[in-house]
Amino acid sequence: MPVSSMKRVLLKLSGEVLMGDQQFGIDPAFVMELAKEVKAAKDTGLEICLVIGGGNIFRGMAGAAQGMDRAQADYMGMLATVMNALAMQNALEQLGVQTRVQSALQMDQVCEPVIRRRAERHLEKGRVVIFAAGVGAPYFTTDSGAALRAAEMKCDALLKGTSVDGVYDSDPKKNSEAKRFETVTYSKVLADDLKVMDASAVALCRDNNIPIVVFSIREKGNLARVIAGEGTQTVVQN
Ligand code: UDP
Repeated sequence: MPVSSMKRVLLKLSGEVLMGDQQFGIDPAFVMELAKEVKAAKDTGLEICLVIGGGNIFRGMAGAAQGMDRAQADYMGMLATVMNALAMQNALEQLGVQTRVQSALQMDQVCEPVIRRRAERHLEKGRVVIFAAGVGAPYFTTDSGAALRAAEMKCDALLKGTSVDGVYDSDPKKNSEAKRFETVTYSKVLADDLKVMDASAVALCRDNNIPIVVFSIREKGNLARVIAGEGTQTVVQN
């Protein structure tokens, strides 16, 4: 299905894009720029589910590398994704976009728990649903959370907005000869360990036939271009 004919998408943003030009944390001005991109996408009539990572605040692996218990550190990472979700909710609502945050870790005072049928209703009513805390379990990432929500919400595609403009055959930051794929199969991504998303997320998309569209969210207007079927991107599919 061409991206331009999709009705419902899941947009996954890495936590690091919320940092803007900072080294850490949340840059509210940059979050507002991202929110404008999301609003523009929504204004085309798309239903949007959003998953935001937490890497700008805390990654479980980094904590574990410094001697923390991995599961404990992962729960901290999940909490970081809730902070990012609330920051994005704030920005979207300042732009007049109705949103709901649903977290896989229950946190009644700040957001709803994940309830699929309720999320469906929010989307029908034109709200953006932001899914926080990944899958709600340690040893996973928000990429897996994104793949899981894309499958259960029956999204037509998983759009992965990151700081590179697609999938390359080697790291473009280290190798100037690196080539970007226009399309690439799930099997090649897994066999060659291409850096798209972690393997469990890619496998879940493959098993449920959900195309993954990898593009740069750092360029202004790029999300709208990708949705219009233009712009620079890589599509991972069968
Ligand atoms: N995390 C987790 N389970 C999940 C989702 C996230 O344990 O289902 C933790 C994990 O420690 C991860 C951190 O939350 O490192 C932040 O998420 P992620 O690394 O996916 O963020 P991103 O790289 O997209 O910013």
